[in-house]
Amino acid sequence: AAKQRGRNTYEFFTETMQLQAVERLSLEQDLVRAVEQSQFVLHYQPQVDAATGRIVSAEALLRWEHPLRGMVSPVQFIPVAEETGLIVPLGEWVVMEACRQMAVWLAEGLPVVPVAVNLSAHNFRSDSLLTSIAYALESTGLPSRYLHVELTESAVMQEPEQAMATLGALKSLGLMLSIDDFGTGYSSLSTLKQFPIDLLKIDRSFVRDLPDDASGASIVEAILALAHALGLGVVAEGVETLAQRDFLRSRRCGLMQGYLYSRPQPADVFAGLLREGVLRRE
Ligand code: C2E
Ligand code: MG
Ligand code: MG
Ligand code: MG
Repeated sequence: AAKQRGRNTYEFFTETMQLQAVERLSLEQDLVRAVEQSQFVLHYQPQVDAATGRIVSAEALLRWEHPLRGMVSPVQFIPVAEETGLIVPLGEWVVMEACRQMAVWLAEGLPVVPVAVNLSAHNFRSDSLLTSIAYALESTGLPSRYLHVELTESAVMQEPEQAMATLGALKSLGLMLSIDDFGTGYSSLSTLKQFPIDLLKIDRSFVRDLPDDASGASIVEAILALAHALGLGVVAEGVETLAQRDFLRSRRCGLMQGYLYSRPQPADVFAGLLREGVLRRE
């Protein structure tokens, strides 16, 4: 019976794996078409001043409007885009689209705030990184102070010397640089100290169980102490409750991002938030 069960289990897994492989292949094929047929859009999530609720910046988050599947989460398609190399043109599209949108808002007289784009390690190491960003700024006429870049810890820590040169070049274009999902990767503190970065983003997994979870609270306090010591700004991601906000605010976390303030919004809805300027939450 045990043998029988083992056999069934084996067959069950192969069938599942086969389905996953087929599913993945179809996602991959659709992704190629999606780039050609511009099925991507950016949504924008505000980052607010913890003390006042004023919107001071935003994060652009990629959304795929699949003709049949509906909205596909980046958690599903970014890894596929990374493995196939499609992430390079996709990341360049994200930069261009964010710059284009901000230039339009500026022309419309909106109180525009800087927008951060996410770049994967592949984008960061791509030969075309600097020229594509410079081209996006130049062709849209957007002043570079409006463009921020988020890079994960692992993207910048892999080859620190190379990373240092690239980060320096991005800074000399005039961009602000953030380390995303901070605390989930492995950072050499002496390397971090030398990098020309502006902000650390505390990963949502540490914010989630605040204020009750003792280990989450200590990690957040440690990241805040580190950031303050290095003179870096801090954004807490995934802030959903007033209790989380109060905990973070009392420990001098400067910026908040999360559903408490706003979910990521389509461009037109976000433009409305920009006009309001302040997201008060009490
Ligand atoms: P991330 O850069 O850490 O982005 C934050 C994620 O947390 C976003 O998920 C956002 O919608 C979500 N989030 C924000 N506030 C809350 C909250 O209060 N509660 C909860 N539960 N979630 C919150 P999203 O949009 O699904 O993106 C997931 C990840 O996909 C991003 O994590 C980023 O790593 C990647 N990604 C998204 N857009 C891009 C892109 O344009 N390029 C690249 N390379 N990666 C992207
Ligand atoms: Mg991010
Ligand atoms: Mg993040
Ligand atoms: Mg995260």
